[in-house]
Formats: sequence, C-alpha cells, structure tokens
Amino acid sequence: MFSLHGIGVSAGIVVARARLIESGHQVDVPHYHIKAAETEAEVARLQAAMREVQHELQSVGSQLPDDAPPEAKALLEVHAMLLDDPAFTGEAAQAIRQSRWCAEWALSAQAAELSAQFEAIEDEYLRERGRDVQQVADRVLRRLAGSPSAHAMADEPAVIVAADIAPADMLQLRHALGFVIDQGGVTSHTAILARGMNVPALVGAGRASELIRDDDLVILDGHRGVVVVAPDEAMLSEYRNLQAQEVLDRQRLLRLVHVPCVSLDGQAIELQANIETPAEASDAIAAGAQGIGLFRSEFLFLNRSRLPDEEEQYRAYRAAIEAMSPRPVTIRTLDVGADKALGVSGEDVHQAPNPALGLRAIRFCLAEPSLFLTQLRAILRASAHGKARILIPMLAHAHEVEQSLMRIEQAKQQLRKQGLQFDEAIAIGGMVEVPAAAICAVSFAKRLDFLSIGTNDLIQYTLAIDRADHHVASLYDPFHPAVLRLIQQTIRAAQRAAKPVAVCGEMAGEPRAALLLAAMGLRQFSMHPAHLLPVKQALLRADLASLSVRLQRVLASEDFERLPQFLARLTPA
Ligand code: PEP
Ligand code: MG
Repeated sequence: MFSLHGIGVSAGIVVARARLIESGHQVDVPHYHIKAAETEAEVARLQAAMREVQHELQSVGSQLPDDAPPEAKALLEVHAMLLDDPAFTGEAAQAIRQSRWCAEWALSAQAAELSAQFEAIEDEYLRERGRDVQQVADRVLRRLAGSPSAHAMADEPAVIVAADIAPADMLQLRHALGFVIDQGGVTSHTAILARGMNVPALVGAGRASELIRDDDLVILDGHRGVVVVAPDEAMLSEYRNLQAQEVLDRQRLLRLVHVPCVSLDGQAIELQANIETPAEASDAIAAGAQGIGLFRSEFLFLNRSRLPDEEEQYRAYRAAIEAMSPRPVTIRTLDVGADKALGVSGEDVHQAPNPALGLRAIRFCLAEPSLFLTQLRAILRASAHGKARILIPMLAHAHEVEQSLMRIEQAKQQLRKQGLQFDEAIAIGGMVEVPAAAICAVSFAKRLDFLSIGTNDLIQYTLAIDRADHHVASLYDPFHPAVLRLIQQTIRAAQRAAKPVAVCGEMAGEPRAALLLAAMGLRQFSMHPAHLLPVKQALLRADLASLSVRLQRVLASEDFERLPQFLARLTPA
C-alpha cells in the first residue's frame, strides 16, 4: 500500500480498479490486458485498423494535386510500406498473442522500439525515419480509438490514470469513476470537465501514471487530494465510513434545493449553473439552479472531423433552453484555442507559439466570420423557444465588442430575410477574463447588456500563471490582491452602469470565495451544479452587510497581511 498526493479538483471518494491511459504523441494509448480467448479477435482488430489506414493513405495519395511536391507521394508510399513490414505489424500481433496486451498497447510498444532503433542510427536521413514509424502508429491508434473494443474499454467503470488528458479526450471517458492525472491545475479544462462528470479527480499527481499499474485497486479521495494504491483492509474500512458520511452530507444539503438564496441580512442572491452539454441541464435543475449562467458551447465542436452545422447546433441549444425554460440559458460563443483546440481548422491554433495568448475565443470567431455567423444564427433561432442570452468570451478591445455586436446584427438580418423566428431583444453579454477588460469594464458595461467575470482566465492572465500547468499551480492564487481589485472594479463598473454582473469562473463555486465575492457586492453566481448547494448553505448563513464593511476596511488599508486573516474567518462552518 502507498499513497500519492496531488490537487483534489473534484470531491468525492471512490474505490475502484485503475485503468491506465498513456498519452502518446497526439493520441491517448490505453494499456489493458485482454482475455486469452480474445487474442485472435484483438489481432484482427489491429489488422483491420491497419488495412483502413492503408486505404486512407492510398486515397490521400491518389488525390494529391499535380503540383504537390514529389516527396509527398514518396512519403505516403513509405508509410504504406511500413504497414506491410513484419518487423512492425508482425511483432505487434505477437505481443497481443504472447503478452495479451490490447492492440493499442502492442502497437505503441513496437513503434517505440522501432523508433528507438532508428534514433541510434548515425545517418541523419535514416534517423528521421523513426518519426515516420511514430506517425504511422499514431494513424493506426486513431483508427483503433474509433473501433468498438476501445470504446468498450472507455465505458468500463474504472479510475482513469494518465500523464495528461486533453479536454477533448475527456469527453470520450464519460463512464470513468474518477481521474488521477500527473499534470494540470485546479481550473484547467480537464479539471472542470471532471467536475462536470461528478466524479472525484486529482490533478498534479506527479508520477502517478508511472507508479500506479493497470488494474491496481485504488481509493481516490478528491476532497483531500490523495490516491491510496493497493489499500489494506483497515484503510478500506476507514474510507467506507467516510463515503457513508459523504452520502449523509449530500442528503442533508438536498433539503436546501428549494430554499430561496437569501443571506441572513436579507440580500437575495441568484445562483445559476455552468454546463458543457445540454444533457447537464437536468443536473442544474436538480440542484435548484435559477438558470444557466455559462453554457460552454465549444464542447459541441471538439472531437470531430466535421464541425456541427447550424441545424445541429440549433437543436443542441434549443434542447438546453427548453429543458431550463422559463429560466434563462446563457450560451457562450465558441471559446476554442489554448487547451481546447479544434480538430479541423483549429490545428493552427494548437501550434501557435503561445496558444493561451493566441487566436483564441472571440479572436478566432472574428477571424472566421462564416463559422461565427453559423453559431450566432443557431443561438438566435433557439432563442425563439425560451429565454436565451449570448455571452462573448475573451474580450479585450472595444473594437471586439463592436465587431461582435455587428456580427450578431448581421445574423439577425439573415434570419429576418429567411423569415425565421428569434428573440429580437436577446441579451448580449461579455466575459471579463482579461485584465484589460476589467480595467475598462465601464466602457464594456455601457455597450453590453450584462457582464460575466471569468475568474479562471482572469487569474491566469493577471498573474501570468498557466492555469493548466501544475508546476506553477501553487502560485495560482484567486485571492491575490491584484485579482481581487480587478474583480471589485468590474462589479462596481457594472453597478454604475446598472447592468447585471455575475462570476462564472471556478471561484464562484468555492464557498469561501463565494462569500468574499458576495461581500464585494456580487449578487449573481454561476458554477458547476455540484457546487450550488454548498455555496447556498454558506450564503444563507452569512451577514453580508457586516462582511462587506470588514472587507472594504481590509482592501482600503493596503495592508494585505490582513487579507489571509479575513479569509480564514470566512471559512464556512
Ligand atoms: C473563466 O475563464 O473563468 C471561464 C468561466 O471560462 P473557461 O473556464 O471556460 O475559460
Ligand atoms: Mg475563460
């Protein structure tokens, strides 16, 4: 028995077997043993994937334009030949039969061995061929990922252990019982998705993917940020008690679902939910959400070779709006880039020198007007079925606000011409998640109907800390005075312009931070549905007027040593 510590990003306790997923070059490689009776079927699965890749390469080759460089054809031929090479394919089949490795594991191990042999060669040209081996393996792995057996593996209830998992890949692991990930920070999108799945998760877990073996029994405690590997009976029984206690606590909180959120001193607070897919609207309603404050629409766009068209988007937005009706649904326009690269045209975004500072979110949409207009039309059409709001991410410049409003008007015009219904008065809001927007919040508030503060990115960009990098996770401080000032400034700007303002970053869902935000005057919060009731409980018990007086004294004193004391006293009972 041993335990590993990391950052708990999604609470809960689970006891289950570990399933290792290795992050390959661009492809996640599952490592699991198959049953003896399944070996021939597994070899056949590998061979089928290889044949498909060979056809794919042939068809790419036959469609090369006449002016394509001659190397392109040669390269495709080399890749096709590799798929016939017994040193590659025969050895992989052998590993399936002898070691009972799944096809992905056998193939990636063989590719790694061959690449290593190439790397030892002195001749530079031949050394480079090692990369061809890896590229061919990656193609086959991607094919295998689409084959039924791989999905069965992903559907198997287990705690997924990996060096890293891209947000897009998380979507394929919907049946995971929990996650232990070597990398990542509290507000990385991988962590946010784990919370969305309502399973315990640990990020920044160091070398967990090297130390935990496939099929190990693990206790994952997302609240305390620990995973216990191969626990003994005493440890198992202690955790069973803790699990039972958690169930009781959750049941007690459920009594608050229909209680209006009003603080001790009579301040009403609106609690909304963040969702990534329309299906999660039911979690939001079950937790008593008064609406959706953030629908991260980009998750409809990930993991696909073809982007969703207007009709598909319209159906998804309409489903969320109808499920929540008459409550509002705030649909954020596509926020791709950084760790959420599109599979299709997003490759450029992914390869940017610094994707978090690159063509992300609204910058990407304004650069791709037809994609943006398609989404806007879909949202507008869905707005005919309930109460929808549009939210624009990552605004930094006034001209981005103007251009976004212009595109929305253009989409409306197109629908009017087609005679299609939509809500003419649909509210349009902007996210304040770049310090520039917080500093200029007054002018943003004047031009828009509402503001929503994205603290996840605001903290990242204010402190120059990559939110997904666990090496600097300890410096990612939501309570840094500079962050608090920017938030306070934004709330005040919105109040002065008489426009609603919410916080939809992860801070809103942490009871202590929620109290601090409420003391700053915030009256609208949006968070993952699982956080709604703990936050409501903290707010119901708070005297916001007196908290506010104390907070203003601390902030005005410039004596930031007093801030930790103030925060310590905020810890909800
Ligand atoms: C944020 O940045 O706080 C936010 C809510 O958006 P996301 O986490 O999707 O970047
Ligand atoms: Mg953001």
